[in-house]
Amino acid sequence: SGRWARAMAILREFEDKCGTPIGKLRQVADAMTVEMHAGLASEGGSKLKMLISYVDNLPTGDEQGLFYALDLGGTNFRVIRVQLGGKEKRVVKQEFDEVSIPPNLMTGTSEALFDFIAEALAKFVATEGEGFHPAPGRQRELGFTFSFPVWQTSIASGTLIKWTKGFNIEDAVEQDVVGELTKSVEKIGLDMRVTALVNDTIGTLAGGRYHNQDVIAAVILGTGTNAAYVERAHAIPKWHGLLPKSGEMVINMEWGNFRSSHLPLTEYDQALDAESLNPGDQIFEKIISGMYLGDIVRRVLCKMAEEASFFGDVVPPKLKVPFILRTPDMSAMHHDTSPDLRVVGSKLKDILEISNTSLKMRKVVVALCDIVATRGARLSAAGIMGVLKKLGRDTVKEGEKQKSVVALDGGLYEHYTEFRTSMESTLKELLGDEVAEHISVEHSNDGSGIGAALLAASHSQYL
Ligand code: ADP
Ligand code: MG
Repeated sequence: SGRWARAMAILREFEDKCGTPIGKLRQVADAMTVEMHAGLASEGGSKLKMLISYVDNLPTGDEQGLFYALDLGGTNFRVIRVQLGGKEKRVVKQEFDEVSIPPNLMTGTSEALFDFIAEALAKFVATEGEGFHPAPGRQRELGFTFSFPVWQTSIASGTLIKWTKGFNIEDAVEQDVVGELTKSVEKIGLDMRVTALVNDTIGTLAGGRYHNQDVIAAVILGTGTNAAYVERAHAIPKWHGLLPKSGEMVINMEWGNFRSSHLPLTEYDQALDAESLNPGDQIFEKIISGMYLGDIVRRVLCKMAEEASFFGDVVPPKLKVPFILRTPDMSAMHHDTSPDLRVVGSKLKDILEISNTSLKMRKVVVALCDIVATRGARLSAAGIMGVLKKLGRDTVKEGEKQKSVVALDGGLYEHYTEFRTSMESTLKELLGDEVAEHISVEHSNDGSGIGAALLAASHSQYL
């Protein structure tokens, strides 16, 4: 019928605009490398902030003692404690607790958010028991993973540049986030000091390096997306401080804000951006990460309903509700292997209140999920390729044995199998068989938590 043909035309056009042929991915990777150079050359030289982390040494395995970490950056925050036993004993014991952040605190005041966090931290410290050994007479020390763009002023201080993802707390912008946390911690009499402030990518890099000395970069694919890597200090023209002894400096790219004319953007992406909390910002993130993928699918379905009566004469009202279709639900539909696509049917019914969908319609929904996930996955691979190029690790010399490992973390990477598989195979495709043998991607499970604790240890006030 005419309706079906119109719906298919919308789908085909979308698919077309989302195309990521290998040539385009190479252009994206090259653009990433160019922007990395520009961001390192001068402050504000690029959309990529290429933030200096003040981390010039990564964990060696010698770290010892009891350390805490706190991970704030998405819908949940986690508190972690870990007893480190040095080279021989490594991680002796670890415990964590996860607390979901009340949505009103994500757009309220700085004080309310940090009071809530300090309170949860104090409760967690109170449950410290068997197997954890605080050093007598010493303050407990904490690595603070704060996954938003921060202008670091030292390893343990930094001011918030802007919020991303679902957060928007105006009075915290341009404040020292460690200062804000410390105020709340002192208010309730908790005796603890932040000795490292890091981004989740840096934490993941540190955690990854602790387990594997070949780790040179880390990428987060979760609610948002970002990357960090180890740069040679003399390749950072905007750094005017002393050259670190190690000769290295970890850079937080803030690659979620990458944008390029080579990115395949559609009218749906433009609308999503315009209606977001941060229009014009985080364009790469908005086509790749878990916060947004489901909503892109919803937007296309909505258009098909409006302009081709895809779901019948009335447009299902729920289709108009922003973010109602979450990426985990999209992923569940995408992975549906039942012959009648039962999962797709029930998700459409339960979430969007669309019942009686035919198998043919369900197949279209799966195809749509595939288009959106594949674009995101292939573009993340292109981003990683850009980083490898910057490091000169996209080629191998005759007889070279050097391995490069990229540590990956985040719920999208961890749980969205189609996404992960596509990302990894695209990276191989970009590298070619020979080079691909020298590069691997490793899941760094909760690298960000352990990593922050390790960095808290190596920057302890008692060293
Ligand atoms: P954060 O990025 O908030 O620190 P995570 O790394 O745990 O936290 O990532 C959570 C995100 O991962 C969710 O917002 C969601 O987008 C995505 N995610 C979680 N589970 C799944 C899933 N089963 N399929 C696809 N994406 C998922
Ligand atoms: Mg996280």
